[in-house]
Amino acid sequence: MAFVIAEPCIGTKDTACVNVCPVDCIHPRKDEDAFEGAEQLYIDPDTCIDCGACVPECPVTAIFPLDDVPEEWRSYIDKNANYFK
Ligand code: SF4
Repeated sequence: MAFVIAEPCIGTKDTACVNVCPVDCIHPRKDEDAFEGAEQLYIDPDTCIDCGACVPECPVTAIFPLDDVPEEWRSYIDKNANYFK
């Protein structure tokens, strides 16, 4: 399982989540070239260890455990994974 970043991140890209992730699986980081052009941040499902530390950091409640992603944002599950392919 993994956590998923959904629509509220678009145009927000706060990055507080990036700073608390123990396995550096949220990208792009501010120091990466892709940050400027990215519409949102993404979680690498293959690296995420499901710790949940990122969830309370998000000011717009954009991060959900896989099973709790709201119905209208289920497409973000693939969107997060695809960013890392
Ligand atoms: Fe990183 Fe933990 Fe959030 Fe997964 S749940 S993205 S490991 S902070």
